[in-house]
Amino acid sequence: MKKNNIFRANGASIRKAAAILKKGGVVAFPTETVYGLGACVFNPKAAARIFEIKKRPYFDPLIVHIAQKKQLSLLAAELPSKVKKIADKFWPGSLTLVFEKKKSVPDIVTAGLNTVAVRMPDCKIALKLIELAGQPIAAPSANSFSRTSPVRAQHVRNQLKDGPDMILDGGKTRKGLESTIVKFEKGKFYVLRQGAVPVEEIEKNTGLKILKPADSKIQAPGMLKKHYAPKATVIAVKNEKEAKDLNAAYIAFKDRPQKKFKMVKILSSKGCLEEAAANLFDFFHDLEKKKAGKIYIEKAPARGLGLAINDRIKRAAAEAGGE
Ligand code: AMP
Ligand code: MG
Repeated sequence: MKKNNIFRANGASIRKAAAILKKGGVVAFPTETVYGLGACVFNPKAAARIFEIKKRPYFDPLIVHIAQKKQLSLLAAELPSKVKKIADKFWPGSLTLVFEKKKSVPDIVTAGLNTVAVRMPDCKIALKLIELAGQPIAAPSANSFSRTSPVRAQHVRNQLKDGPDMILDGGKTRKGLESTIVKFEKGKFYVLRQGAVPVEEIEKNTGLKILKPADSKIQAPGMLKKHYAPKATVIAVKNEKEAKDLNAAYIAFKDRPQKKFKMVKILSSKGCLEEAAANLFDFFHDLEKKKAGKIYIEKAPARGLGLAINDRIKRAAAEAGGE
């Protein structure tokens, strides 16, 4: 392994990271959701390196991150007023919007689709970096393909080694779950991925209806059945009664289990969904490091953020392969 490429985020390191991006390099950086692996969106060669470093298949498009709404004009073919309404309410924030792209957005970024996914992160470090780079930054999560997304700089380092030219360390991410993805198509909105912003919240704040895609063509590419997985067997349970193997690790949602499992973690002793979401991936990384082998995890209450948490648990627990 080459020398450590993690730099604590401050004015000087963010400037250095922006200079690397401008020269066509690839930088991992924190956002409020998870760490991203970024390259300048209009540099297809740099974007190609993201796929190489992550071992990500080319059919899986990248999310483009912006620092100011005016940067949308570089990416969007047109900006429907309903899309603008959602962006105005939720940006900066953990909501990604998908809409028709401008032809100039490179195909490698959008996996050849005529749409592009865009968000403005709610994280000062990320915003400063994008601003100094002077252009939108394409950045998927900074994990190896199908593994747990990183919520600390060290998680990026453990998975991607010295693949990125630099890793900016902004500490543990605040939300710990990926963004919610909503697609605009022919006047309607569809949720493609549950995430850090509950769909009800979008509906409540905008008065717009967000549909569940019935049509499989609308599904997000890259939303594979097996995803977000630690290197361990993950088994989703309702409660500890379903967990027989005491040699395993047990992640409870709220209450400590009675049984003596080898390792026990509590997502939120207060039963707070935000806290649980922020801990989920961090616990997966930690238990993987401690070589847990098998992890039981209790599902969250199926409301609000709990839906996104349960989606990640389901995918982490899935067998490999298939969509
Ligand atoms: P992430 O690694 O969390 O940044 O994931 C990016 C995800 O965004 C992809 O796996 C896709 O599911 C979704 N995505 C990106 N671009 C598009 C697009 N143009 N249309 C639909 N989904 C997209
Ligand atoms: Mg990802």
